[in-house]
Amino acid sequence: MNSEWELKQLIVEIGKRIWMRGYVASNDGNITVKLNDKELLTTPTGVSKGFMNTDMIIKVDNNGKVISGNSKYRPSSEVKMHLEVYKERPDIKSVVHAHPPYATSFAVAGIPLNKCILPEAIIVIGSVPIAKYGLPSTMEIPENIREHIKKSDAILLENHGALTLGTDLLNAYHKMETLEHTANIVWKAIQLGNVNVLPDNERDRLVALRSSFGLNGPLATCDSTPMPSNSEQISNPNKIEITEQTIREIAERVINKLKQK
Ligand SMILES: [Zn+2]
Repeated sequence: MNSEWELKQLIVEIGKRIWMRGYVASNDGNITVKLNDKELLTTPTGVSKGFMNTDMIIKVDNNGKVISGNSKYRPSSEVKMHLEVYKERPDIKSVVHAHPPYATSFAVAGIPLNKCILPEAIIVIGSVPIAKYGLPSTMEIPENIREHIKKSDAILLENHGALTLGTDLLNAYHKMETLEHTANIVWKAIQLGNVNVLPDNERDRLVALRSSFGLNGPLATCDSTPMPSNSEQISNPNKIEITEQTIREIAERVINKLKQK
């Protein structure tokens, strides 16, 4: 177990990495780490996560109330979302929230990253759902992520960003990297016009490897049904295809209407 000081240094370091990798813009994003059952460390609001120092990291209680920290800085209003995770998942010790562009694009397009595509993603983050949109800083986001955090360590936030959960800070951060890397590759494969999905038996063999990697947390297993090759179909699975038959039916209906007049 790292000391409080070491954890503050690690939060500063991870903040730098999420900013340098373009996972956040401006003052976006937030990171928390649980110190014990009653206290956690959080990043401040209104500060770029690429330019933090340990003096800016704040200690809060389970209700988000400040216990200690430099009075110039306040905890993020999004700390509520992190508190919701710790309440639902006692196995989770750290949460990272960012807006990585590829993963966030899927969250904006309404396409969950739920297919079995890359081995690491299948094992580590499984099926990534999209939590319904909620107004930032309100209780809407904590309420909308509740059902998903019970079984997923990586969640897309509709029209907003992503959230990853870990057994420690590095673990939560690595899941953010895995999520963004997966989204980047799936996005590119969609552009190439085809995404091969791994079948059930391959998914099951990968999931069986989890315990040998020390991964014992819940996992929403990915979907091995084929992915439509047309990105428009992916985002609009209910879209009606205009066939010759449909055109003929519409024409007949128009003609009948005209005859009635
Ligand atoms: Zn955000």
